[in-house]
Amino acid sequence: MENNEKIYIIGHKSPDTDSICSAIAYAHFLCELGENALASRSGDMNPETEFVLNYFNVSPPELLTDAGGKKLILVDHNEAAQSPDNIENAEILEVIDHHKIAFKHAEPIYFRTEPVGCTATIIAWEYADYDIEMPSEIAGILLSAILSDTVVFKSPTTTEDDVKTAEMLAGIANIEDIEKFGIEIKKAKSILSGIDAESIIYSDFKDFDFSGKKVGIGQVEVVDMKEVYERKNELINKLNEIKGGKNYNLILLMATDIMSGGSELLCSGETEYIAKAFGKEVKNNSVYIEGMMSRKKDVVPALEKAFKK
Ligand code: MN
Ligand code: MN
Repeated sequence: MENNEKIYIIGHKSPDTDSICSAIAYAHFLCELGENALASRSGDMNPETEFVLNYFNVSPPELLTDAGGKKLILVDHNEAAQSPDNIENAEILEVIDHHKIAFKHAEPIYFRTEPVGCTATIIAWEYADYDIEMPSEIAGILLSAILSDTVVFKSPTTTEDDVKTAEMLAGIANIEDIEKFGIEIKKAKSILSGIDAESIIYSDFKDFDFSGKKVGIGQVEVVDMKEVYERKNELINKLNEIKGGKNYNLILLMATDIMSGGSELLCSGETEYIAKAFGKEVKNNSVYIEGMMSRKKDVVPALEKAFKK
């Protein structure tokens, strides 16, 4: 049953901790089943992922930027635009993911998606389904991916399945305080110090069209909000500059406090729509909204609705 042709397990472009760790774990799982599987990545790793791999002493996956002619298994994504280049000339064998489905394929394949907070949760279930023993370092990196994707269980995308699976993995990996470890991981990505305001704003930035108005929303996750408050004026000045230069109706930066589970919105432009959307007055280009964690779930729908009125 051994298939000698190499199978590459790969996550999305601009890989996050889930894309890297799920690929490593799933490659290990398949090798245990006798497949010739190799974990790969379609870009540079972020500091959070580097911290996680160092912590559990796991080697980084191989870089794969051209998928042409390769046999692939996709994890943590299913949209071709997020896959490595030349994906249309690759043979896709399987998909394991937790995002909305935007996938077309001519052949029947194994396609597993679950509405959970992280691909790593599904990979952990695969080990259990096939009764494959999980080494502690694999449990550690899968746990890290869950903590990363769910922002230490504070994101509204978190499910009970993610929490239960994380607890099980922490047992294998000998992590006693899961939340404390999660914050340690997030601290590794606390990117504000030593980075200029523009790079902070654009580090995770998306453009939207709300009823014909141009709106840009950036997000940073921080462990210590002091870093944000100390540089508030500098960040607002930069938002003003970008708004003017690129003709935004509204531009905002969500500085998400993963400790308290809320976001400071720094903004420039037609900020009355923020007040409309979230029922809180904007003062000096900023407002703190409790419980706001997710751009996708907490910000975009409310703001889009406010622009419709
Ligand atoms: Mn991801
Ligand atoms: Mn993910």
